[in-house]
Formats: sequence, C-alpha cells, structure tokens
Amino acid sequence: MKLYSTNNHNLEVDFATAVFNSMPLDKGLYMPSYVPELDQEFIDNIDKFTLSQIAFKVASVLLKEAIPSEDLQAIIDDAINFEAPVVALDNEMYVLELFHGPSLAFKDFGARFMSRVMAYFLKENEKILDVLVATSGDTGGAVALGFLGIPNTRVTILYPKGKVSEIQELQLCTNGQNIHAIEIDGTFDDCQALVKQAFADTELNEKFRLTSANSINISRLIPQTFYYFNAYAQLKRQGKNHVVFSVPSGNFGNIAAGLLAYKMGLPVEQFIAATNVNDTVPRFLETGVYETKPSVQTYANAMDVGAPSNFVRIMDLFQNDAQALKKLVTSYSFNDEQTLQGMNELYERFQYIACPHTAIAYLALKSYAEDRKYEEAGVFLSTAHACKFPDVFPAELKEKIINPEQVASLHSKEKKATKMAVNYPDFKEYLNSF
Ligand SMILES: *Cc1c(COP(=O)(O)O)cnc(C)c1O
Repeated sequence: MKLYSTNNHNLEVDFATAVFNSMPLDKGLYMPSYVPELDQEFIDNIDKFTLSQIAFKVASVLLKEAIPSEDLQAIIDDAINFEAPVVALDNEMYVLELFHGPSLAFKDFGARFMSRVMAYFLKENEKILDVLVATSGDTGGAVALGFLGIPNTRVTILYPKGKVSEIQELQLCTNGQNIHAIEIDGTFDDCQALVKQAFADTELNEKFRLTSANSINISRLIPQTFYYFNAYAQLKRQGKNHVVFSVPSGNFGNIAAGLLAYKMGLPVEQFIAATNVNDTVPRFLETGVYETKPSVQTYANAMDVGAPSNFVRIMDLFQNDAQALKKLVTSYSFNDEQTLQGMNELYERFQYIACPHTAIAYLALKSYAEDRKYEEAGVFLSTAHACKFPDVFPAELKEKIINPEQVASLHSKEKKATKMAVNYPDFKEYLNSF
C-alpha cells in the first residue's frame, strides 16, 4: 500500500513512513492512494469467518505489500485478542460493544495494532522509540496498555490533574515497565502544549526517537475497519443484511474507518454521525458550511472536539463531494440533558447501561429511525464501558454499573505518577533523565 497526503495526492510514501511520521509535512493526513475492494465472494460468505479471520483478510488487502502474511497474522492475533460482540436490544436495535479490550474503550483496537506495527518496523540496533502522548482520558489508557511490554518502546503520558476519571487514572499510572505517567497541574491543552514543544525541540529530537502515536495515525484507522466487517458478519448470521451504523463521533476517526470499510465493499445502508454539542459536522451536513469552533465541555468528554481532524479523510474518501457524502451520512447532535435522558431511557427500555458517548449514538439512531425508518438492523456503537465515566450517572444507575475484571486488578496495583507543573524546562529535564 502506498499512501498520499490529503493535501497532495502526488506525494507517495510507504506504510512504515506514514506510521512513524503520523502526519505529512504539508499537514494533510495520510490516506491509501487507492482503496482496494474485497472480493464479492468474501463479502457474501463473511458470516462464516471469525473476527481474527476477517481482520486478517481486510488487513491483507490493504497491507500485503507492506507486511508479509505471516507477520501480519501474528500482529493481528496479538493485537485483536478480545471480542466485539453485537448485542440485540430488540428485534431491530443492536449495540456493537467495542469496550472489551484492556482499556475498556474502542481505542484499544487502534492503539494495540499501532504499537505492534511500530515495533515490527523498528530496525535492530535502532534507538528506543519514545512515544509522547497528552491525554484527556481514553487515548492515554489505550496507548499505555497498548504499548505495555512492547520491546524497544517507551511511553510517556501527560494527563491533567483531577480531570480524568478514577479508572482512567489507574489505567495510566499502574503499568510500570515501559510506561511513565506525568500528572500535570493544568489542563489537557497544557499537556498537549508541552508535548508539542518537545516534538519541536531539536535537542530532544537528536537524542531521542520521538513519535506521537496520536489518533490521526493511519495504523490506528485500519484496525477500526475490522469491527464494522465483523459486526456485519454477526448480523448476517441472524439473517439481517441491511445495516445502519450510528457512530459516536469526536475526532471522526471511528466513523472514517467505517466509511473506509464501506469503500472497500462492506454493504452498509447508512452511517449516522452522532455528536454532542460540538456539532461542526452536523452543521456542515445541514448548511454546507464547514466552520470549526473551540470545543465545549460535555458529559461525553471524549467527543469534545470542535475541529475534528479526521474529517478531511472522510471528504477525501468522497473526492470532496459533499452531496455524495450526504447520501450516505446523516448526522445528529445532542446536549448534556438529552444525553442523560438517553442513558436513563436505555436502562428503562432495555436494562442496558451505556456510557454517555454510547447514549448519544443511541439517540441518533432513534432520531434517524423516526426520520427515515431503517429496514432491518440499526446498530449503535458502544465506544467505552460505563465504569470509565461513573460521575455522569445519576446515583441509582451508577450503583448498577458492574465493573469488568480489568478493573478489579487495577485497584490492587501500585499507582505511580510524577507530579509536574506546566513548565517546559521541567518536562525536558524529565525526558533527558531517561
Ligand atoms: C475517542 C472516543 C470517541 C470519539 O471517537 P472519534 O474516533 O474521535 O470520533 C467516542 N467515544 C469514546 C468513549 C472515545 O474514547
């Protein structure tokens, strides 16, 4: 697979370059130069395959020139070692649970695949790969657990003090080994600014091999296509061939992967982009004007994005044809009050406890069903386990949340984080002491 920049289709790089650079110098995003299609026979028989088999098939169509089959299979088996079940709520509404990985959020798919691909491409005797991440919660946990124990890599995570949930903090601070956590006495933006300054620091770049591992990395997008194919396979087994996906969206990476899957031949009737009040994309689809805004804080804080970075990828997949995009993608946004209602309603109707991001996808699917009526199966994606966002829940629901086993072991581990003020020289000194 060759990749180009969304800003310059004449630029071509190989997969390894795109993985380590994350972003082309022209500040576009890497996309496959052409999108290969899966053969029809595979799609027609997809219900006969497991998640691992589907993941391998999809990945090999994209990456066969970049990674030999055996190595690719090993990467997939190691990275995607948990399930992504489609759970029926009634006869036509389903939830695709993407939170069964180690960090209890869908970002595990991307982070685990990326870490293994990076380790794979590291050459012998090269410097250790130093991953620097700023996190507001879910990204850090997925990256920490994704890189934990991966040889020749080291991860430094900056998170804002008091602004991540208890479980999120434990996921960042209890790993040891090659994972280091820094608690910054500031905001997420402060964390991000420190990381950015480090990336721009010539001295540090000479000493270390720095990489960002952030959400725009192409190696995070690719594994996210797997679960769309696998969800379709599960529904097909139940005789459902017409599927609508509702995707809780912030940076629009998840739904971009769904649309990539569609372009590779996955039959999907409609995608629904569900957002909180950070509604840049719903407004664009409504008015045709793309106007970013500063982000607003909401209950679904992993979706608090005013300028979704992956949206250019989506436009690129549709040759910048907004009309074509609008035929396939509908979008709805919801405020905090509605989100809370959605969480309550999911419990009242189905005894299902969903995190606020998931509840927004549910509400969007419901709105779509009222506006357009879907044919067979409406699937909303559940991007995180409810236990990661306990403080959003009303007390009577909060006490019903059952912690999965990943959480029990967290509490028994020692928590370790370096406390730091928002001060670049301190951060640089910390890195230099490695
Ligand atoms: C990151 C995240 C999202 C948003 O996903 P994007 O790919 O950025 O659109 C939604 N829900 C949860 C729980 C997340 O962690």
